[in-house]
Amino acid sequence: MSKEVVLSENAGFCFGANRGYNAVKDAISEGIPIYTYGPILNNSFIVKGFEERGVRVINDLSELDSLPKGKIIIRSHGVSKAEYERLTDSGFEIFDATCPFVKRIHRIVEKESMGGREIIVVGNPRHPEVMGIVGWSVKGATVIENSEEADRFSFDPDKSYCVVSQTTFNRNKFQELVELFEKRSYNILVMNTICDATGVRQTEAEELSKRAEVMIVIGDRQSSNSKKLYEICKSNCEQTYFIQELSDIVGRLPKVSGLVGITAGASTPKYIIEEVQSYVRNDV
Ligand code: SF4
Repeated sequence: MSKEVVLSENAGFCFGANRGYNAVKDAISEGIPIYTYGPILNNSFIVKGFEERGVRVINDLSELDSLPKGKIIIRSHGVSKAEYERLTDSGFEIFDATCPFVKRIHRIVEKESMGGREIIVVGNPRHPEVMGIVGWSVKGATVIENSEEADRFSFDPDKSYCVVSQTTFNRNKFQELVELFEKRSYNILVMNTICDATGVRQTEAEELSKRAEVMIVIGDRQSSNSKKLYEICKSNCEQTYFIQELSDIVGRLPKVSGLVGITAGASTPKYIIEEVQSYVRNDV
């Protein structure tokens, strides 16, 4: 059998990441101070590259008071309502690159919480997207990440609930948690807000890793969707490598005679994917 290298069709930048990336790239030429509220993508290479071109990351809104006016780009993860209002009232020009799929969750959470439902967000409570989503509920929200937390959560029979998901959450795990919720509460509105880009990428990774002798997942270690791709691939393919850039894998790959599958998280730039692909095709 000879080696075959397959790059997953939807590896790399998703629609939302691409939009945020282009917003910063286009703004650089405007000749005014450019800021991003938080790193524009979960990828240190990209953030560093933009920093070298003068883009500054704002980590705390209190910094606004001492910065020269310019343009602030809200990244695809979105922000809470309070942060959004603080930004739009700041006197800076705002470009809102919140992904429309995340915006949709903000609208659901705001509407359903106003209508009286308790909000449950399935996701990682430390992820900025989730923190932003929670901040659109008019009365707070509970974040649940795993089945232990779901078991511990006490449903009030007199209350109604609305469940949404972090866009990058694993679909199978979301389904498992929803089943646990539905066993314990009758009045529950479930909105599956996992975005297609993530689902398609995960399905492709699942199928590819089932056939692969070696799988390579490219992504930043801070990126939750990349970590999830790694978990999926690792469960099907023992020899799965999680790398950030080409140098992480040079000299480490075993001799492969079968299929090498490559996938990449939503914030992985194309050039890194191409470098890895070319290395695996030509040098392994
Ligand atoms: Fe938008 Fe989906 Fe990309 Fe998140 S993963 S930024 S929701 S396209």
